[in-house]
Amino acid sequence: MKATCWMGRNKVEVLDVPDPRLLNARDAVVRITSTAICGSDLHLVDGYIPTVKKGDVLGHEFMGEVVEVGPEVRNLRVGDRVVVPFPIACGNCFACEEGLYSICENSNPNAGLAEKFMGHSPAGIFGYSHMLGGFAGGQAEYARVPFADVGPIKIEDDLPDDKVLFLSDILPTGYMGAEMCDIRPGQTVAVWGAGPVGLFAVTSAHLLGAGKVICIDRFPYRLRKAEQAGAHPLNYEEVDVLEALRDLTGGRGPDACIDAVGMEAHHPTPAMYAYDRAKQAARMETERPYALREAILACRNGGVVSVIGVYGGLLDKFPMGSLMNRSLTIRTGQCHVQRYLRPLLDRIRAGEIDPSFVISHRLPLSEAPRGFEMFKHKQDECTKVVLTP
Ligand code: NAD
Ligand code: ZN
Ligand code: ZN
Repeated sequence: MKATCWMGRNKVEVLDVPDPRLLNARDAVVRITSTAICGSDLHLVDGYIPTVKKGDVLGHEFMGEVVEVGPEVRNLRVGDRVVVPFPIACGNCFACEEGLYSICENSNPNAGLAEKFMGHSPAGIFGYSHMLGGFAGGQAEYARVPFADVGPIKIEDDLPDDKVLFLSDILPTGYMGAEMCDIRPGQTVAVWGAGPVGLFAVTSAHLLGAGKVICIDRFPYRLRKAEQAGAHPLNYEEVDVLEALRDLTGGRGPDACIDAVGMEAHHPTPAMYAYDRAKQAARMETERPYALREAILACRNGGVVSVIGVYGGLLDKFPMGSLMNRSLTIRTGQCHVQRYLRPLLDRIRAGEIDPSFVISHRLPLSEAPRGFEMFKHKQDECTKVVLTP
C-alpha cells in the first residue's frame, strides 16, 4: 500500500510499504477513506519528538471502512464505517476505567522507553514515535487498529467524512481544552493559537457557556476563522497581548487560558525567540514555550491554564512563581478522545457543530508532502489539509 513516511527532519515521502494485517485477536484493519495532517505531525516532521525512525508511517487522524476483524472484535463487522481515535486504549485498565484513555496502561509496547523520558508511560498513539508505541499511522491506504472493540466509533448514517473525521482528534481535543477550564456561565476564556485545535477550543468554550472568548494568533486568515467561530481576535504582532487581555477583562485577566500552540510557539520578540531557538537547537530544552508562559502570566488570579498544545520533554523560563503565588490551576493531557466520541457525534448530528469549517485543502494522499509544506508554512491560507487515499 501507499503510506506517508517520515524520512528525516523536514522530509516526508509517500512510499510503498507492506499492507497491515491482523496481529492480535482484538485488531481490525481499516481501509482509509479520509485522513488529515495535524499540528502534532509538524512536531515530528520538525524533529522535536524523540524516537522517530526513518520509514515510520505518519498520521493519527483517520477514518474508513473495516475490511478485517479479529475474532474478539464483536462490535464491528467488515463493511462498517468507523472513525478511529488517535490514542490507543485497551478499555480495561485502571486508566481506561477512569475514562483517561490517552494514558492507557496496556497499549504502549515500548513503555520502558517512555518511562526513561517521562517517568511513567502514556498510551500508545498511531504514527507518533517509538516511545509512544511505534504504531504505523493512518496517512495511508490501510491501518491496523489495535483494541478495535474499544476505540473506533461506527458512523451509521450518511454524515460525510468531512463532518466526522475530526472526531479522531482535534474536535475532542479542542473540547477537552475548554472542558478543563470548568467554565461558569459568562466567563472569559482566552485561546492561544487559531489553528484547527484552537478553533475547536473557541467553538467548545462557547458551547460550554463562556460569555467572551478571545483568540490570539498572528495570521489574519486564521484569526478571521476564529472570529467566525465567535472569538474576539487578537493579533500579537499588532498588540501587546498581556495589555490587551487586561483591557478586555477590566484589568483582572481571563478566567481561563487555553494553550493550543504547544512546543513550537513563535515569539513576537526576536530576543526571546533566539533564546528558545538556541536552547532547543542545542538540545538543552525540547520546547519553545512562549505561548504557555504568556497564558500563565495572563490568567487571572485563581484561574485555570488548560494546556492542549503538545510538549515533548523539558522547558525552561517556566513562570512557576506566577503559577504558585497566584493560585493558578494547570490542567493538561493528550485528549482522552474515546470518552468524547458519542457526545460530540450527537452534537454534530444535531447541527450544533459542523467541524468541516476548519478544512482549507483537500489533496490526494500522493500529495501529502505538498500538504505538509502548505500547512507548516501557512501557505495559500492553509488551516487544515484532508488527504484522500
Ligand atoms: P497549528 O500549527 O495549525 O496551529 C498552531 C497555531 O498557533 C498557529 O496558527 C500559529 O500561528 C499559532 N501560534 C504560534 N505561536 C503563537 C504564539 N506565541 N501566540 C499565539 N499563537 C501562536 O496546529 P494545530 O493542529 O492547531 O495544533 C495546535 C497544538 O495542539 C499543537 O501543539 C498540537 O500538537 C496540539 N495537539 C494536541 C492534542 C492533544 O491531544 N492534546 C491533539 C491534537 C493537537
Ligand atoms: Zn492530531
Ligand atoms: Zn487501558
